[in-house]
Amino acid sequence: MLISHAFDDKSPNEGLGRNMLDEATFSAFRDIGRDLFLRGLVSSHAGNLSVRTRATIWITRTGSMLGRITHEDVIEVGQVGPGPLDSRASSELAVHRAIYGATGAGAVIHAHPPYATLLSMLQNELLPVDLEGYRVLGRVLVKNTGKAKAAGAPESAGAVSEALKEHRIVLAKGHGSFARGETLEAAYMATSSLEASSFYLYHLLGQPGPGIPEQ
Ligand SMILES: [Zn+2]
Repeated sequence: MLISHAFDDKSPNEGLGRNMLDEATFSAFRDIGRDLFLRGLVSSHAGNLSVRTRATIWITRTGSMLGRITHEDVIEVGQVGPGPLDSRASSELAVHRAIYGATGAGAVIHAHPPYATLLSMLQNELLPVDLEGYRVLGRVLVKNTGKAKAAGAPESAGAVSEALKEHRIVLAKGHGSFARGETLEAAYMATSSLEASSFYLYHLLGQPGPGIPEQ
């Protein structure tokens, strides 16, 4: 859901760090974060979530555990950086900002779904063979954002946000998924559908050869 805030008419960075996250939005962060971890779509300290309001972005803190999100783990930053609290936010903040700038998304989820990430090292795109994946996702692009580049690098932000103009979810090769949605629940749906489709695809394709292909 998109939550409207009383500070929407203020300048982008005014009040950052002093506004309260409303309980409905916090509950969505906590519940979706827990579901991502319990479903095995992120490891203990990986992944990040964000929600856009009309004026700002709420995003998980760098180093936070998505399975145990507290109020202190959700940081408010401007929709355009840099800002005073950027260093406390997820290292993928630049990618989240680029996605909001390029799409009409209300929420973004970055996760490390194991089967999807594995297939991203083997294929340039995924074509779901199950009905849910086919209907929910369609073709899933894999973008080579480079494993050596720092998280949130401009190259990643550009490639990922461009792909999300046309698609609900995209894979960064050897890294993980970025999903957009009107709400965190919608972005979670795409993320969990992608992992289920990747599970089916992996077992249909069979065990790939030894070694990890060039990144
Ligand atoms: Zn990541």
